[in-house]
Amino acid sequence: MSGADPQSVPIASPEGTGRLVVLAGPTAVGKGTIAAYIRTHFPQVWLSVSMTTRPPRPGEVDGVHYIFVAEEEFDRLIAAGEFLEYAVVHGRAKYGTPRGPVERALAAGHPALLEIDLQGARQVRESMPEALLVFLAPPSWDELVDRLVGRGTETQEERTVRLHTATRELEAVDEFDVVIINDDVRRASEQLVSLMGPRPSA
Ligand code: 5GP
Repeated sequence: MSGADPQSVPIASPEGTGRLVVLAGPTAVGKGTIAAYIRTHFPQVWLSVSMTTRPPRPGEVDGVHYIFVAEEEFDRLIAAGEFLEYAVVHGRAKYGTPRGPVERALAAGHPALLEIDLQGARQVRESMPEALLVFLAPPSWDELVDRLVGRGTETQEERTVRLHTATRELEAVDEFDVVIINDDVRRASEQLVSLMGPRPSA
């Protein structure tokens, strides 16, 4: 792990293509909030829209927050090799990154951001080793529990499963290139975007 200093991170994207950055981290750490902030404030960053088999939550828009699909459609796309990565998250729903849009964004020179879970981040590391893996960490474990409980969108049983997942996910920090502490949404978002370019000309 190279720490959070952008200067210390090797730039590996081929000349003329965008940089692929993967944002992962424990459940409820605020990945979605960071992604939403970047969508609003940094339109130059191309944000992947994941597919999922889970139903939409109130306020979520199909095609913007996720592409919501049925289980059969998701499985058909797996078989067709249409996902850059996919995983079953929290033992319930399937989530995946459609491959084509990411490849097109990078080829067009856009910095691209994936907000995905740890299993997905590991798959991207395998298939695209030049990707930069960023771990979003909570300021503390207590803070993470507060955020998970405070969100209020999960049942007690779901929260228990998510906290169990989060414990395992926190242990994975050493697999990442950079750690960003989510102490402030704006600060953390700016730090993330600073990792995405511009690339040095040399
Ligand atoms: P939620 O259901 O709360 O929106 O997301 C649950 C988890 O799924 C989050 O940790 C989120 O990062 C992860 N996730 C969202 N999209 C993808 C994806 O395309 N691939 C993978 N592997 N995980 C995803």
